[in-house]
Amino acid sequence: MTLEKRDLYRLPWSKNDNPIAWLEVTDICNLRCEGCYRQRLTGHKPLEQVKEEVLFFKRWRNPDNVSIAGGEPLVHPDIVEIVAFIAENGIKPVVLTNAAKLTPEFLRELTRAGLAGFTVHIDSHQGRPEWQGKSEAEHNELREYYARMIAGQRGLIAIFNSTVYPSTYHEIPDVVRWGRANLDKVDGLVFITYRTFDTEARVGIDASGEEVDASRLSYSTHGFDEEFVTSPEVYQIVKECAPEYEPSCYLGGTIRVDSFKWLIGVMVGSKHEMYGSAGAKTMELAMAGHHLLYGTYPAYVPQLRATPLLFLLAPWDRGVRQAMKRRLADVARHPGRLFDRIHVQTIGIIQAPDAQPNGQADMCDSCPDMTVWNGTLINSCRMDEYRLFSGMLSMAEKGKETAAEQTEASGEGR
Ligand code: SF4
Repeated sequence: MTLEKRDLYRLPWSKNDNPIAWLEVTDICNLRCEGCYRQRLTGHKPLEQVKEEVLFFKRWRNPDNVSIAGGEPLVHPDIVEIVAFIAENGIKPVVLTNAAKLTPEFLRELTRAGLAGFTVHIDSHQGRPEWQGKSEAEHNELREYYARMIAGQRGLIAIFNSTVYPSTYHEIPDVVRWGRANLDKVDGLVFITYRTFDTEARVGIDASGEEVDASRLSYSTHGFDEEFVTSPEVYQIVKECAPEYEPSCYLGGTIRVDSFKWLIGVMVGSKHEMYGSAGAKTMELAMAGHHLLYGTYPAYVPQLRATPLLFLLAPWDRGVRQAMKRRLADVARHPGRLFDRIHVQTIGIIQAPDAQPNGQADMCDSCPDMTVWNGTLINSCRMDEYRLFSGMLSMAEKGKETAAEQTEASGEGR
């Protein structure tokens, strides 16, 4: 199946009206993920600074949720107070964590403070001491442990994300099948494609046109000769093991017209069968309706609120109509399933920044993961370029003239 943008809903998110705000509370972490964008430079942010950033988001971002990120946010000494402060401000606090520090007691404390849910990052390239050399399928045991723990607190959202490396791409179906088997506990899966700055092939150029040492970035490697995985490829492999999966909405790229930087599909099913995926109209109605009722676009909707309403959209949405027909056929064949609970589960695919021939990177258009930097909003995945080099780098292939050098040589700008 080929992805066509005209069949999908382009999410209406923008810089000033976006469901997600990315709050970085620390750059300290207790793991070492291969694909991490952050390195330890400044440590934990003081609570007062964190609160100021939350208020900044409230004023300039209009978020439905704040993604509390890092580093590893659960190692911040004031994390419970941070969660409570966000909730008091009428925004859903969602913790993005590797969960290594999560215990049932800690979970109860966070829930009492007003936590809305988690995005738990688990994959096989995180350097977890007891999981070295284990496959994605084997890591499902760890995913399941945390899924069960989170499900113990009713109403919490549980999303599981993993970075997709060229070497783990073929293991995606193992994670999708695990999500399917845990439909009652897992609200969504997210696959983020790995990208790196290859310092063997390219040099980094700062805003003044000077060459800088890009190997200082945690996301640089010296030599990378594998093919980066793209979102349409992730889509294809998900389809192979979950034919009922179909994305309904997307975000494109800031440079390329044909990139799918974010793809989101919402599957509908019961514990016995997956019925299909909601279509573009459902997403459009969900976005517009939520904005009309609550003043914000939604990013995370708990199953309890999403599910019963979904089949009502069948007259408008072909995907929901097809899912409803399969549901009715299933119940006709197995009347005992009439009272089966219906679940929704999202699968999101994110294609990280891609270097372009002009030296710039194709970023996610209307980036949902913008964070605060010096009184403005920047893409969180590039924040270390701001921290180390005062702004985003451009790239030049080694041995080729940079754009600045070309301009100088041609005499332009004199
Ligand atoms: S551009 Fe934004 S959404 Fe895309 S990878 Fe970077 S931070 Fe995430």
